[in-house]
Amino acid sequence: MKSAHVTAHYGPFPLSEALATRAQQDLLRRRVPTEGPTGPRLWVDRRAYLNFSANDYLGLAGDEAIKAALVAGVEQYGAGAGASPLVTGYSRAHQRLEETIAEWLGLEAVLLFNCGFSANQAVLGALLGKEHLLWQDRLNHASLQEMGSRLPCKMRRFAHNDMAALARQLEPGRGLIVSEGVFSMDGDQGPWPELARLAAQSHNWLMIDDAHGLGVLGPEGRGTLAAQGVSPDSVHIQMGTFGKALGVAGAFVGGSRELVDYLVNFARHYVYSTHMPAAQALAVSESIALVRGADERRAHLNHLIARFRQGAEQLGWTLGASQTPIQPLLVGESRAALALSERLREAGLWVGAIRPPTVPAGTARLRITLSAAHQEAHIDRLLDGLGLASNEGGQAHG
Ligand SMILES: *Cc1c(COP(=O)(O)O)cnc(C)c1O
Repeated sequence: MKSAHVTAHYGPFPLSEALATRAQQDLLRRRVPTEGPTGPRLWVDRRAYLNFSANDYLGLAGDEAIKAALVAGVEQYGAGAGASPLVTGYSRAHQRLEETIAEWLGLEAVLLFNCGFSANQAVLGALLGKEHLLWQDRLNHASLQEMGSRLPCKMRRFAHNDMAALARQLEPGRGLIVSEGVFSMDGDQGPWPELARLAAQSHNWLMIDDAHGLGVLGPEGRGTLAAQGVSPDSVHIQMGTFGKALGVAGAFVGGSRELVDYLVNFARHYVYSTHMPAAQALAVSESIALVRGADERRAHLNHLIARFRQGAEQLGWTLGASQTPIQPLLVGESRAALALSERLREAGLWVGAIRPPTVPAGTARLRITLSAAHQEAHIDRLLDGLGLASNEGGQAHG
């Protein structure tokens, strides 16, 4: 028999208390292992579900050409990069991906990271000293909030998308404003023309995290800035990820050549971390080629979004103000959100309940995500499931 290992019943870290508190609040998280490929369907315990929880907005995670690029990359470069980028981990494949992204988005230079979480932390950590100010939207991603609160700089958080509040907080030439293109839990967009204007007027820097806009919005899928007609030159730092619409994994930070040179020297998550495999860089390059030409996928996705919103509103559900594939269905209490998610699961629909602290208290929700890999019939099955749940009184606002 396995020993009980060292437990949390003694020592400096009260693990069991923390876990018990979370369980009491209906906030305990656990993982569910899936089986089979990423796609519109998800297999769990040998049962198939329609997947409305992934961020694979264009249905590229299972794409044959991207898979082939990854496999060919492994044949050419091996499985791993072998070292950090400043040692020997930086290959021609990485360099070409940087150039591809720079050309796609109109950036002078680009740097690759293993994930968006570390890219955000690297940028804030490398730039912000105790003399600086950091202004953040309250709904920014955990990677930005958390790093901001650990750094010696002063952090000010403004109410979500409230440009008057930001304008009141700004001080000239003191630091960095960071917000998102598309907000990950709400699906709405930041007001980028206004953000760019405030940054320019106040002589502060501006950074966009476009994890959920890249690939989905704008001509060639260039993201939120392109969709809103904001020049990349008016945003000092662009960050995007490869694990969502691009269907692979990893992230980039782009901007001026000088910014990238600076990060190569001072971004600790870049310097002291093994580089992403070259094969992954090749797969992302292939994905970008597909994304640029994916107008049909984007049109189909927009059609599904409109169909879903119309159907859900007819059923009396409260949706967020989102025109993107992230469609939050607001429930309120964590327990009710969990129960609804469970009911949908029984109907073969996989929709995650998002609870605090990921979202503010009292705003637990189902985070429904749509993909170009879905068909109209899939959306209709989701609406049927939501109709059943609302007739059973599962609805908070009905
Ligand atoms: C997912 C996400 C990240 C983190 O990116 P990963 O590559 O998954 O680590 C950062 N910012 C936002 C807004 C995200 O949604």
